Amino acid sequence: MNKPSLADACLCSALTCDGAMGTQLIQRGMQIGECGMRWNDEQPDAIKSVHQAYRDAGCRLITTNSFGGTRSMLERHGLGAKTADWNRLAAKLAGEVVGPDGWVIGDVGPFGDFLEPLGDTTAAELEAIFREQISALVEGGADAILVETMSDPSELCVGVRAARAVTDLPVIATYAFQKSAGQFRTMMGTQVAEAITAAFDAGAAIVGANCGTDLSLADYVELAKEIVAAAGGRPTIMQPNAGAPHQINGEIRYDATPEEMAALTHTLRALGISIVGGCCGTSPAHLAAMSKA
Ligand SMILES: [Zn+2]
Repeated sequence: MNKPSLADACLCSALTCDGAMGTQLIQRGMQIGECGMRWNDEQPDAIKSVHQAYRDAGCRLITTNSFGGTRSMLERHGLGAKTADWNRLAAKLAGEVVGPDGWVIGDVGPFGDFLEPLGDTTAAELEAIFREQISALVEGGADAILVETMSDPSELCVGVRAARAVTDLPVIATYAFQKSAGQFRTMMGTQVAEAITAAFDAGAAIVGANCGTDLSLADYVELAKEIVAAAGGRPTIMQPNAGAPHQINGEIRYDATPEEMAALTHTLRALGISIVGGCCGTSPAHLAAMSKA
């Protein structure tokens, strides 16, 4: 295989990452609150159909169905013993769809608690948790590791270091920022420049933001400017939600249209974001419009 490295590829061409998995699985019959990792084992065709829909939409980075796939998260469902098997499987399923000019992005989300001193978990314990998941994703055929939706820079950096310890594959790292008093910060209060720098310093090859709390499309544009400035020419990524969420009859809805997300993609690219994808509320229709943009 002579695929260029992901970091090199995204410096010289526009790459589109995929969009939300959970909402797509719910459309395919998954119950809210169900363990999505279980679907790698029991509904592999459904997982592959979501990957295929994003691939058909023009996404070259296909993210494994392994958010919530750490032992600590699976243990909430009494399924911790499945950690290695289901992560390997998640990477294998994406690999069956991605094709020769795409990349399998091994997805790692938050471990579900706080590090010391807010929680009981030490950095060493957390690194072991992440290493177990990441090793299995690599064994299953991941081409890169994505440490995402992180609100604590310390947790993100432990995740990046865990990945660097078990593999030479590139590591992508993204924060979920929120806006408070007119400034973008992580939930822990860290500002963008400091958070982005910490992620690169920990060894991430590509750094940026995904998801976010109540961010509007205009907010993502402002956030992108700060990320690009902090990255100083290094590769960046942004996976916004389909606008800010609204509650309608107790249901969370994201209203941005594919056209609005395509316009946002155009702006993010013009600002220098290397990889654009989608998070909550985005669908293959959004990603098709975005990858065209
Ligand atoms: Zn999200």
